[in-house]
Amino acid sequence: MRIGALQQTTMLDFPGRLSAIVFVRGCNFACPYCHNPDLLKHGGSPLAPDEVLKFLTRRKRVLEGVVITGGEPTLQEDLAEFCRMLKDMGYAVKLDTNGGRPDILEHLLRKDLLDYVALDVKADPRRYPREISGADVGDAISASIDILNGSPVRREFRVPCAHPFINGESFQAILETASGDIPVFLQKIRLERVLDPDFFADNKGRALNPVEMEHLRSRAEACGKMCLIR
Ligand code: SF4
Repeated sequence: MRIGALQQTTMLDFPGRLSAIVFVRGCNFACPYCHNPDLLKHGGSPLAPDEVLKFLTRRKRVLEGVVITGGEPTLQEDLAEFCRMLKDMGYAVKLDTNGGRPDILEHLLRKDLLDYVALDVKADPRRYPREISGADVGDAISASIDILNGSPVRREFRVPCAHPFINGESFQAILETASGDIPVFLQKIRLERVLDPDFFADNKGRALNPVEMEHLRSRAEACGKMCLIR
């Protein structure tokens, strides 16, 4: 595991569980609004995995879960082994993923290594923009959605609300692919620190405003979906 950072405690990122967050390095996407650009570099591990595991061993009586996020965790070759170690220590494991590696997601679920999955759905899965993924990954995203639709594990879809990727039409397409029992979270874009400030400076991209987000939330509610703004 190439680990870029460790947040020792969170009450917000793993519903119902006091957790630590492990931030891995490296990502196969380059979302203009990524607020962790330092984690996108591949190679190197500023934090030794052994040190992270030692910390988690010490905190076992206090913490209940570990969130693995990034970067993109499914790019880590030893992710399954890392999850297994956490499970053997008694932790519940939450994975945050961009959905670009459905094979890895399926493997982890089949091995019963995950307790919660948060899947980013950043645009209409049928037309995933190259500004985000650099390549046509629509089939991969759709496969990840299908895997979670059919999984008994706790899961959520997260929709980062950036124009032009998210609008009424693309959000409707997301709603149509999501199983009815999966909560959808509309996520505000934090413009203070983004991977590509120019993308937002020239008004090609922009964060959806609260009125637009509420409009999307109402649209989801009208379709019978549980949808919240974060
Ligand atoms: S937002 Fe997530 S998927 Fe996008 S570049 Fe950043 S880490 Fe990768």
